[in-house]
Amino acid sequence: MPERDPTDPRRHVPRTDAVLAEPVLAQAISRLGRDRVRDAVRGAQAQVRAGALSPDQVVPATLAALPAGVTSLTPVINATGVVIHTNLGRAPLSAAAVEAVVAATGTVDVELDLATGRRSTRGAGALAALLAAVPEAGSALVVNNGAAALVLATTALAAGREVVVSRGQLVEIGDGFRLPDLIASTGARLREVGTTNRTTLTDYERAVGPDTGCILAVHPSNFRVEGFTAAVPVAALATIGPPVVHDIGSGLLRPHPLLPDEPDAASSLRDGAAVVTCSGDKLLGGPQAGLVLGERDTVDRLRRHPLARALRADKLTLAALEATVRGPRVPVLDALEADPAVLFARCRAVTAAVAPELGAQTVEAEGVVGGGGAPGLRLPGWAVSLPESYAERLRTGVPAVLARIERGRCLVDLRCVPAASDPLVVEAIRDAGRGESR
Ligand SMILES: *Cc1c(COP(=O)(O)O)cnc(C)c1O
Repeated sequence: MPERDPTDPRRHVPRTDAVLAEPVLAQAISRLGRDRVRDAVRGAQAQVRAGALSPDQVVPATLAALPAGVTSLTPVINATGVVIHTNLGRAPLSAAAVEAVVAATGTVDVELDLATGRRSTRGAGALAALLAAVPEAGSALVVNNGAAALVLATTALAAGREVVVSRGQLVEIGDGFRLPDLIASTGARLREVGTTNRTTLTDYERAVGPDTGCILAVHPSNFRVEGFTAAVPVAALATIGPPVVHDIGSGLLRPHPLLPDEPDAASSLRDGAAVVTCSGDKLLGGPQAGLVLGERDTVDRLRRHPLARALRADKLTLAALEATVRGPRVPVLDALEADPAVLFARCRAVTAAVAPELGAQTVEAEGVVGGGGAPGLRLPGWAVSLPESYAERLRTGVPAVLARIERGRCLVDLRCVPAASDPLVVEAIRDAGRGESR
């Protein structure tokens, strides 16, 4: 064996287990897991071997290399003015829903009656909350998302048979998710009626027969057809005979005055829909979920279908949903109903707080509902206008702030920002400004 050079840095590389035993790293292990921290230690040791780091810097270098948290998901301040932003995870949960989720993370009575010790209906509290909010429904069911609710409804009611649907409602929801493909995947056959812009009651009546499993009405939640148009209301469809499945999309349980064109579950059931399906994380303002509300017998058919088990919601969702439906006002409503005068005052305060040389201005800006529905609806409001180059620095800063770019300006719209976060927005703009002057 050749004699080793005593000045060789490899001789001084601290041992992995000794480094891992350092109290600060022990803390990091309990937060991030041993593998992550060990990998970071090895990275630092390699730098020592390469002569790029002195041995006593292994611990600080390891700490510096560690991520802030175990998940790569990064909180983002939604300054886009888009109330339901699909790329930002749609509805932010209310504080009450967050609390409910945290409480449900351990072992909970999601499917157990503590009084009798027997198995109970899964998520009974969330179902009861939905039925209390929509007394028009005889029964309710919660699945993974809106698409799952629709798949379950068409499968249980029409597999091997026909789903009668208007050509004007064969929509693509987004990200390549097309309704016709979804229904075809369930083994039901699509029976298209009418044309893109006009469908009449007679069109449906001619198509309906012994092979009809259900009539499907889909709310065109992301576009509008204007001009020479006709669509058949649910109340008329319900007179034909087969069960009517109404996919209302955005999850309004009752009518909302700002959203006159958005269908709601209560009205649709009163009009005679057998079941209504919708999402939990759009205008309802809750967790990702698919809600099915409707006639007891029909909902029970869906509940008993084997597919229901594959689509069922988890305990965290059920907890958040119950808290959303029963609990305090949700952030989505705050954003939707934000008072323009209040938005103006907040934007003025942020504009005044950032350095004047940044050229910030308070400007009128319209928000939109977004992926949640109400296409074409403009929500009057205000924003802080900055040079366009700010958008990227805000997006990549800490905290990340997603603004929108409009006519060559970066608009920081406070509609969807909780007022308590305004100081964070001010800091983020100042940081971005420092990057700007560098
Ligand atoms: C959003 C939407 C869906 C899909 O719901 P997810 O919860 O995204 O699965 C289906 N139908 C309509 C009309 C929608 O608006």
